Amino acid sequence: MPELPEVETVKEGIKIISNLEIKEIFTSDKKLRINSSNDFSLLKNQKITEITRRARYLICNISNNYSLIIHLGMSGRLTIGKDFANYKHDHFACQFANDKWLIFNDPRRFGFIDLIKNYQIKDHQFLKNLGPEPLSDNFNNEYFFSKIQRKTMNIKTTIMDNKIVVGVGNIYASESLFDCKISPMTSANKITLNQSENLVESIKKVIKKAIKLGGSTISDYVNASGEFGGYQNNFNVYNRNQKNCKICNTKISKIIQNNRSSFYCPKCQT
Ligand SMILES: [Zn+2]
Repeated sequence: MPELPEVETVKEGIKIISNLEIKEIFTSDKKLRINSSNDFSLLKNQKITEITRRARYLICNISNNYSLIIHLGMSGRLTIGKDFANYKHDHFACQFANDKWLIFNDPRRFGFIDLIKNYQIKDHQFLKNLGPEPLSDNFNNEYFFSKIQRKTMNIKTTIMDNKIVVGVGNIYASESLFDCKISPMTSANKITLNQSENLVESIKKVIKKAIKLGGSTISDYVNASGEFGGYQNNFNVYNRNQKNCKICNTKISKIIQNNRSSFYCPKCQT
């Protein structure tokens, strides 16, 4: 599933179609997670003036005061291509003045592409209750430590809660906890002020590094040019069950928390 670093990488990759007039639009009639109530023909002859990201959502501002909200879901791909062949699972495509196509393909259809008016962005059902971005100054120890005081849930599930901080998905939660040597099983309210500070720093560090390496490809993620990410070669614990810890040689353990796999070193992380 594309997480924050992957979506950030896609965002940077599609910026080359900014400020180019949209010539052609294709939409399929297949149902996605949500379907836009606005007609995509509104995009014709318009330009994408700015592309931003909030959590795992891409927001493309259009010159007519509308915005496209794009979510890649579990298996979505947003790529730039020379041609549009209307392959199976292509749900949306538009061609720009330089003849390039922006193509949204999603075999499992958990993603979506929505067209809304700009003033509706802040109230969008998936955007309105989100916590701070992990790389923003608003995500700091003072904020985070106060948020976890009353949380009796384990810390791994807690940092994956979008209301506390966005974009810390399953991969980056395990990797961040390994980085600051905190066990994923620790109750959030038992985390000390010092540990909390280290965890905030580790989350920022891991996500920054993942963005720098173009995200992680576990199954089928590709960037806007169709290339794989590179961070999966740097995992310390994720997907390394029963492999040796890179620090202490202890075998990495796998447990299930909140229906998601967690990976950790039982010796390094306490
Ligand atoms: Zn270890």
